[in-house]
Amino acid sequence: RVAGPCVLVLFGVTGDLSRKKLLPAIYDLANRGLLPPGFSLVGFARRDWDHQDFRQIAYEAVKEHARTPFREDVWEHLSEGMHFVPGEFNDPGAFDALAMAVKELDASRGTGGNYAFYMSIPPKFFSTVTEQLQRSGLADRSENSWRRVVIEKPFGHDLKSAQELNDIVHRVFPEESIFRIDHYLGKETVQNILALRFANTMFEPIWNRYHVDHVQITMAEDIGIGGRAGYYDGIGAARDVIQNHLLQLLALTAMEEPTSFSSEAVRAEKAKILSQVRLPDDLSLATARGQYAAGWQGGVKVAGYLEEDGIPQSSTTETYAAVKLEIDSRRWAGVPFYLRTGKRLSRRVTEVAMVFQKAPHQPFSQTDTEELGQNALVMRVQPDEGITVRFGSKVPGTSMEIRDVNMDFAYGESFTESSPEAYERLILDVLIGDPPLFPRQEEVELSWRILDPVEEHWASQTKVDQYKSGGYGPESSDAMMARDGRVWRRL
Ligand code: NAD
Repeated sequence: RVAGPCVLVLFGVTGDLSRKKLLPAIYDLANRGLLPPGFSLVGFARRDWDHQDFRQIAYEAVKEHARTPFREDVWEHLSEGMHFVPGEFNDPGAFDALAMAVKELDASRGTGGNYAFYMSIPPKFFSTVTEQLQRSGLADRSENSWRRVVIEKPFGHDLKSAQELNDIVHRVFPEESIFRIDHYLGKETVQNILALRFANTMFEPIWNRYHVDHVQITMAEDIGIGGRAGYYDGIGAARDVIQNHLLQLLALTAMEEPTSFSSEAVRAEKAKILSQVRLPDDLSLATARGQYAAGWQGGVKVAGYLEEDGIPQSSTTETYAAVKLEIDSRRWAGVPFYLRTGKRLSRRVTEVAMVFQKAPHQPFSQTDTEELGQNALVMRVQPDEGITVRFGSKVPGTSMEIRDVNMDFAYGESFTESSPEAYERLILDVLIGDPPLFPRQEEVELSWRILDPVEEHWASQTKVDQYKSGGYGPESSDAMMARDGRVWRRL
């Protein structure tokens, strides 16, 4: 799988995401020989840079963040095709200049009239840039060429805004040309959920309500909001993480087997399961949220959310969110899916844990067994990527003492090659035109449909729980589980 000739226009090339992820991923693709010879990269941003400035900044980003070793010859070749166009998103003249630059590059470097536009920009500009692409003629294509547009997350901030944005983008690009990024889907470990389920026979028979007690999907971060107050406040943990990453993980875990790994088949099954997801009736019992309080984390004094630069004292934006969901299907009826995400928690981990039902009868005496947990199959997305099966085992000795143990598969030990970064995979898929790892509009809207009532419920409340920095989240989240007779897995 090697990309065909094309120009990639990167909007927001001076931003954090471009520097840390996108430019290094493009270099890594070049280093792996996956980009075509005439590949050209046009950076667009507000800075008053020339091509040389752009190449220098990109060089530094690659040196610092690329996954693969630096090779002078690869860099030379890639940077020859790198150009910069300065401009504001609302300036038509800047887009005319961009159109001219892209066409010149296309003619001189033989990129076949194929253009991809990557919007790594503040979400409020997604529609402006789309309209500018149309007005400047950049979106028009001749018969044998293609246009693709990549839109970063979040795609809207509720169902209505997602539909409005979609209408604008669809006026310019057909659905098959639109690539909505959820970078979690580019992660090897996330794709491995499908491999685990459908390439094997031993898991599928127990992947249902007859064996599974409940499912926990967690994305915990140990960091705060950093300097991103402008982005984060008013958005919060549920919109930032549950609407996209965690609901996509739920979809992959719960969906039925697709007829093939084609885009249409995978996306259809994901949409089907998302359409069956239901919130419990009483949201005060099925949700929890909180904000991290000032405190100590790893021996360092950290500010609370309300003390962070740029956050108003009156903010009710949550930095922790937990939601209980149910799925109306024969496979999952009665099996709750608990989703949680938070910042400034005790450690960084993303995992999907299937927790199995308790053994119906224990022949071992209470005195011989420690408090046994339930069997669990844990798919770790990051860090320490791998899969763990947790089960009870006899402790060596003369008595029948039983204790929980782990059986582990670790990517790092089983495979010598390191996993490509999610953005490498996703950028390559855009350039090739293969979208199974990109949510289509239906999935985005279904996800907002699930989350909108939660946001409305929270908006009607003034109190947000505080939780300890470096801890495990608000007490209300533990209480939510306790009401169901369950506990969160220890972070
Ligand atoms: P950023 O604020 O660091 O960068 C935004 C870029 O847009 C900059 O290059 C800036 O110069 C440019 N820009 C802003 N306003 C402009 C204007 N009026 N005219 C021209 N250029 C303008 O943002 P980021 O962190 O790089 O994120 C980019 C996108 O990716 C966002 O949609 C964000 O939600 C998404 N995202 C970021 C991360 C991350 O880790 N940073 C993760 C997931 C998704």
